Formats: sequence, C-alpha cells, structure tokens
Amino acid sequence: MKKNKIAVAVALCMAAVLTACGGTAKTETTKAAGAETTKAAGAETTKAAETTKAGAESSAAGGKLVMVTNAEFPPYEYHDNNDIVGIDADIAKAIADKMGMELEIQDMAFDSLIPAVQSGKADFTAAGMTVNEDRKKNVDFTDTYAQAAQVIIVKDGSEIKAPADLDGKKIGVQTGTTGDIYAGDIKDGNIQRFNKGMEAVMALSQGKVDAVVIDREPAKVFVKENAGLKILDEAFTEEEYAIAVKKGNTELLEKMNAAIKELKDSGELQKIVDKYITAK
Ligand code: GLN
Repeated sequence: MKKNKIAVAVALCMAAVLTACGGTAKTETTKAAGAETTKAAGAETTKAAETTKAGAESSAAGGKLVMVTNAEFPPYEYHDNNDIVGIDADIAKAIADKMGMELEIQDMAFDSLIPAVQSGKADFTAAGMTVNEDRKKNVDFTDTYAQAAQVIIVKDGSEIKAPADLDGKKIGVQTGTTGDIYAGDIKDGNIQRFNKGMEAVMALSQGKVDAVVIDREPAKVFVKENAGLKILDEAFTEEEYAIAVKKGNTELLEKMNAAIKELKDSGELQKIVDKYITAK
C-alpha cells in the first residue's frame, strides 16, 4: 500500500518534472526512496518514520492512529449520537495522547476487525476483544487491560440454571465472538448467530432462543434494558481483553504496552472503568 503510494508519487513527479514538482517535493521523493531502501536493512528507522508522516499514511509512526471497533458493545464501545464512546474508546484515546498521536475510530462488524488489522486498513482494534490462541495466530495482542467472562442470559423462570443445562438448547450469540466459538462445544446445541449482541437478546425476549451467551458487562446493560431476563450466577468462561495490532508490529505493540502500564500504574485506567461501570 505504502510502497504503491510512494511509487505513484515518484511516477507523477517524473512525469511532471518541469512543472508541478518543485524542489521540496523532489527532496521528499528522494527521502522516501531512501527510506524504502534502508528500511529493508533495518536501519534508519527515523527516516522511514518521517516518510510515513509525509505520506499522511495511518501508521504507528505517523500522526494518526486508526482504531477499528464494533460499537454495539456497551459499556466498552457504543454510539452516543454521532460519537463512539465507552471504555475502549477512552483507553485508546488515552494511549494515543501518550503517544502524541491523533485517534480515529471506525465502526465495523465484529468479524471484520481482525482482517482490518491484518490488512493494515487499521492500526489496531480495541473491541472488548478476548485474547485466545486462534486469534494470536493472526494478530499480536497487547498486555491485557480487563478481566472478562462469557455469561448466560435466560428468561426469568427458565429451566436453564447453569452452563450444563445448555445441552440441546437454542443458543443466541454474536457472530465471530468467543460466545459463538465456545457455544460450539455445547452438546447438541443449536447456535443462532446475530450481527449484534442486542439482537440475540431481543430474540431471547421473543422466545426465539432459550439462552444467550455473551460478555458479562454488555449482558448487564442488555438485561437492564429488557425486562424479564437475568444473568446466571455461574459464568460460561473466564477471559481477558487486550488490544490487537498487526502481527509483527512490535514498535506499536511496545508503545501501547508502555502506555497501558502507565495508565494502570497511575490509576487512570481504573478511573475510565469507574466512569462507565463501577460508579453506575
Ligand atoms: N469478547 C468477545 C470476543 O472477543 C466479544 C467482543 C465483542 O463482541 N465486541 O469475541
């Protein structure tokens, strides 16, 4: 991508060498070409970084960090009028601030997040994303920043009282989430997939599924908003959330880990959590 853009820029400059390309542009082009060459040798990282900035490409080394998320997951990420807000949005903003970078958040389907990071369309995803071995094959995770769990939501009075009672039942999940993945282990379970967690919860209210397996904090929000539902005491799984970056992007990973550590040590992370959960 980056290389192509630079190549195009070089080609354009060559084509218009006597007109549009002034001295400054020529200098930049030379720098870009130099950076591309030296990058391969692993040297002159700073020069490479400058090039990225000049190209206004979203990158860890540039001025802007692009985050992708699925803003259907309160209190971690959700829409508030035109804004995407929540714990992950605030944490990402705090990390970007520490790195001296601007943050841009893009919303997409949950199962598109890892591909977006893999392709370089985004720098990272913060999406209440559970760390698991399969995902680690595709992305690199930062240090974890939250404990989480998959819980089971049922209708009041349901005969389902614990995870073992899910055998043979209709289970609603959000596509591509760990709820979806692990519900696959339920004996004779009939998994119904929804684009949004809230849609799975609506299906439960309407009696279309017998239970929903979903992350604990969104579950609390959805149960509060829909009468007649409850969360079972026994969780389905225990998990941890982390931010995911492109595999091998150690520069960004290390910067983010340093920022996360600072946020934890200073109590700022807890303050963000309190703003959305504990204090409510
Ligand atoms: N924690 C779950 C997962 O990582 C769900 C996340 C989400 O729906 N945003 O699969």
